[in-house]
Amino acid sequence: SKKETEFDPQMAAFWKPGEHVPFIFLASAFDMISDESGRLAMTNILCNVFRTVISTTPQDLLAVVNLSANRIAPAHEGVELGIGDAAIIKVLTEAYGRKDEQIKAQLKTLGDLGSVAKCSRSSQKLMFKPAPLTCMKVLDTFNEIAKEAGNQSQDKKRARMKALLVAATDCEPLYLVRLLQSKLRIGLAEKTVLAALAHAAVLSEVPKVPPAQLAARLEEAEEIMKHTYSVLPIYEQIIDAVLKFGICKLSEVCSFKLGVPVGPMLAKPTTGVSEVLNKFQDMDFTCEYKYDGERAQIHYMEDGTIQIYSRNAEHNTGKFPDIVAAMPRFMKPGVTSFVLDCEVVAYDREKNKILPFQILSTRARKGVSLNTIKVQVCLFAFDLLYLNGHPLLHEQLNVRREHLYASFLEVDGEFRFATAKNSNDLEEIQKFLEDAIDHSCEGLIVKTLTKDATYEPAKRSNNWLKLKKDYMTSTGDSLDLVPIGAFYGRGKRVGVYGAFLLACYDEDREEFQSICKIGTGFSEAVLEERSTTLRSHVIDQPKSYYRYGETIGVDVWFDEVEVWEVKAADLSISPVHRAAIGLVDSSKGISLRFPRLVRLREDKTPVEATSAEQVAELYRAQKINHGTADENE
Ligand code: ATP
Repeated sequence: SKKETEFDPQMAAFWKPGEHVPFIFLASAFDMISDESGRLAMTNILCNVFRTVISTTPQDLLAVVNLSANRIAPAHEGVELGIGDAAIIKVLTEAYGRKDEQIKAQLKTLGDLGSVAKCSRSSQKLMFKPAPLTCMKVLDTFNEIAKEAGNQSQDKKRARMKALLVAATDCEPLYLVRLLQSKLRIGLAEKTVLAALAHAAVLSEVPKVPPAQLAARLEEAEEIMKHTYSVLPIYEQIIDAVLKFGICKLSEVCSFKLGVPVGPMLAKPTTGVSEVLNKFQDMDFTCEYKYDGERAQIHYMEDGTIQIYSRNAEHNTGKFPDIVAAMPRFMKPGVTSFVLDCEVVAYDREKNKILPFQILSTRARKGVSLNTIKVQVCLFAFDLLYLNGHPLLHEQLNVRREHLYASFLEVDGEFRFATAKNSNDLEEIQKFLEDAIDHSCEGLIVKTLTKDATYEPAKRSNNWLKLKKDYMTSTGDSLDLVPIGAFYGRGKRVGVYGAFLLACYDEDREEFQSICKIGTGFSEAVLEERSTTLRSHVIDQPKSYYRYGETIGVDVWFDEVEVWEVKAADLSISPVHRAAIGLVDSSKGISLRFPRLVRLREDKTPVEATSAEQVAELYRAQKINHGTADENE
């Protein structure tokens, strides 16, 4: 693992320029990355991989980047492999001539089908040497697997997987299987892939960037890359532009496009109205009700088609055929295209009342048909990102809002503008917050209005602050945490896990840091359900990117697979946990006191869990507002 600036041309000796990049080249890099825990080291390895590809076979860069990001297509295209672990087990028996029971027994000890595949391959005697796999071949086959539909599609999918596994050698089966499961599990976040790609672009420039300017150029390129990806998350277009025009021109060539979801702007938590007033001193700002539903980014194309995207840029159009059908009734004459940012909320139209989030989550994820809909929804629109051919992202919120109000019509129980109030009076805001709660909202989102008020895609911005009702009694906001381990139950809870170890995610170090043990807030049914799911994700040893105190005494470890929303009484400095270590205290972490489970966050992936930085911010805010109760152990 050389530093990225010490590019090693030997790496390219793996294959001849112009030939397709061998998959073993990337798989070996994944192996190296899995041994690293630092983001910098991972970026360096991946950057060198990308540079090698750029200097030899640039036409394969897209495939290499897609595989590194564990994607087969951009998220909004909704391309899914559609295979489960059972299918993979069957393929392993067929490809490696092993018995189903053998595979399952080994899975229990190794805890990961990828490792089972690797062992199966290395214990198999080969009659002939198969043609080496290339990254292009792997990605093309994944796309073919995703496309198989209809009769016997599962058989055809398995046949394609088998062909890949038969040709795989060394560590290739491990990563093939994990890619097929859409989980690389080497701690590589997309942020790192973007950084590595940006660095590789700069370091491949001719003439070379002078050493004195290099650090600044790398940083600038990373920013450009991340911003571009947040408005146009399509590697194909980004890589094409980088290879043709260089990274400096990237934001000119690749910009927002109707039909492609931008990353949603996110809010930062606060613990009270006075904190909001402090942060937004001398600024114009507005308070809006914070509705408790599901975020929807609605794209209306010139030809009248509508696409609805979730918070994670996934296709949600099939979940909301009622919104698609009703949308034209909400548009004023003259509106030909738009992108609307809003919250879909379950709604009782007879009683004219917002219903809890849990009711909305009973709707199927896709394929909902208009005449079977039981849960009605109302849209609460709060932003407009595009109108009639013009992006509005760079406009201030007051301008975007004027366009929003001028382009749509409110319809009772179906489409409303988010209730808003412009005030900088503490008592008035306090009253507005209480009104929001009375109207079944979670609290307020307070937004800058006329200055520093552009739409910041995919960013948790200082210009949007959330104010939740719990701020007086608890941490001010719930946290979204990842179960990474569990403790066996005792007494009534024998047979299920008695408590779980939760972790937040440190985005810079790319590690999951333990934050608390949680054993309450579960009904028996929920406990059983979570235990059952997590039992199939038990691993032998904690991941190299899990950080926790040695005294925790966890009974089993899990792969990071799901996100739980958790509320707590407060945060305290802890000698045991490692959340936000180094941010508030140099050697101690932060822990949650009295945590309880609110719900499973199906719309978040583990790397989208509450970040270490957010934990530190919540801690600091709490200290200012209420003092602390640090553990003195
Ligand atoms: P985050 O989205 O910040 O990671 P989260 O998913 O837990 O965290 P919250 O922090 O509770 O969500 O709040 C942000 C979400 O609130 C938005 O993503 C959006 O779905 C929802 N929301 C409801 N009303 C509004 C509003 N008026 N303006 C912006 N977002 C709103």
